[in-house]
Amino acid sequence: MIVLKFGGTSVGTVESLMNVKRIVESLQDRAIVIVSALGGLTDRLIATAEMAAAGNAEFQNEMDAIVARHRNIIENVVDEPKREACMERVMTLLGELRRLYEGVSLIADLPHRTLDAIVAYGEKCSSVIVAAMIKDASLHYSPDYIKTERRFRKNITDAALTNELICREFTEDTQYPAVAGGFISSDRDNGEITNLGRGGSDYTAALIAAALNADELQIWTDVDGFMTSDPRIIPDAHIIPQMSFVESMELCSFGAKVVYPPTIYPVFHKNIPIKILNTFNPTAPGTLITDTRMEGSALLRGLSSLKATTLIRIAGEAAQNIPMISSRTFNALARKGVSVTLVAGDNADGTFALAISSGDAEIALNVLNAEFSPEIIKGTIASVEATPGMAVIAVVGEQMQRIRQLGTRIISALAAHGIEVEASNDASSKTTATFVVREDLSADALRVIHSLFFSEAPVQIDAPNADAAHSDPRDSE
Ligand code: ADP
Ligand code: ASP
Ligand code: MG
Repeated sequence: MIVLKFGGTSVGTVESLMNVKRIVESLQDRAIVIVSALGGLTDRLIATAEMAAAGNAEFQNEMDAIVARHRNIIENVVDEPKREACMERVMTLLGELRRLYEGVSLIADLPHRTLDAIVAYGEKCSSVIVAAMIKDASLHYSPDYIKTERRFRKNITDAALTNELICREFTEDTQYPAVAGGFISSDRDNGEITNLGRGGSDYTAALIAAALNADELQIWTDVDGFMTSDPRIIPDAHIIPQMSFVESMELCSFGAKVVYPPTIYPVFHKNIPIKILNTFNPTAPGTLITDTRMEGSALLRGLSSLKATTLIRIAGEAAQNIPMISSRTFNALARKGVSVTLVAGDNADGTFALAISSGDAEIALNVLNAEFSPEIIKGTIASVEATPGMAVIAVVGEQMQRIRQLGTRIISALAAHGIEVEASNDASSKTTATFVVREDLSADALRVIHSLFFSEAPVQIDAPNADAAHSDPRDSE
């Protein structure tokens, strides 16, 4: 059994859908096919909802365009005799969507639950189309078996229930290939439509692959594989032929958009290999992600960056007691569902620093001020200060410990390009070194580090002293 996930661009046009059809119909194995909404549609569904809520009657024209796009795709990819039934089903769904927008426009409000119901139409429609397009495929409805619960103002997957329901949905008797929408789920307690977060179709596919002990999870997208960095920022980034689960998990959780971060864990847990493949170049070998440590290959695997980060600095005498301050910080934040992306004790300025997502900054400041109020009153903690507008750069490779003075080399190369590292941690993880820089400098920082370790040519950016050393980690033992 193979689980294949096709992202938005893979199902965005008639041409790309014909590629999907060819890929799936030529498979020998039993397959489950998870699809995203038509490329760009989720953004458009959200923008249209905001338009309706703001009383802008243009939403009706947007809705007309959404209908026309689906109609055109169905006419061109679904053969008779299934075309008519497919068209009718999708048009019924889009009729419901239009009524939702009209409701939003009428009450001039967009509650979160309504927005969740609206965005679900992307995958509801694309899955109907793909199931009708692929020969002998059956259609499945993900909210029936992907279940979430509400915790810390977020929808979190109920793993045990989801696992059980997936095993009931996909059995020996199912007709394969089976097709389902990614991303969409439902609340286990009230049945309302929820979702797994933007980019969440990858995660749907991983949950299904893990529950069914699939032989492989294939993520089909629009690039030839997982690359040494984001190709939109680093044009000479190259494909990584093979990497470990841990490396991919680190790169994704620090912002490599090619795979949605929670995706790796369920398949890693079951030791199911992941392949990243290109729908537009299906014979390219792609990237294979397994549990193997690639001894003898490159010491560094890749770089990624996470924007919208806030750096919180705790200053004062008590901040020197790193074990005490870090355990209390972690525990206090975890109780409120705030996760920490980086901690850096032992900073030159004597502060204890931590990086968190900017969306959690306000709550984190309140939590930390409450947690450390005894020390603040005593004066052993002088301040707890937040600086927004930061980015975390992650440098990943399971063998990075073999590179001498990695952190120092990176910090001085960045300094040579006028980029200051606000906080860093190259010791706590064996796989990842992290550096906080100003968000507006993060693309330049990626270029400097990529040039240092992965490129043939040294980086060219407009900055003072642009003469950073260029060296190869492989000669650093
Ligand atoms: P899909 O719609 O298939 O889910 P995404 O847009 O979510 O596709 O992810 C694929 C995109 O991720 C690529 O087009 C690429 O621009 C971007 N990307 C960011 N970092 C990386 C990376 N390290 N390797 C490959 N692609 C990356
Ligand atoms: N359609 C959803 C999104 O755009 C989910 C996905 O594509 O994975 O975020
Ligand atoms: Mg994606």
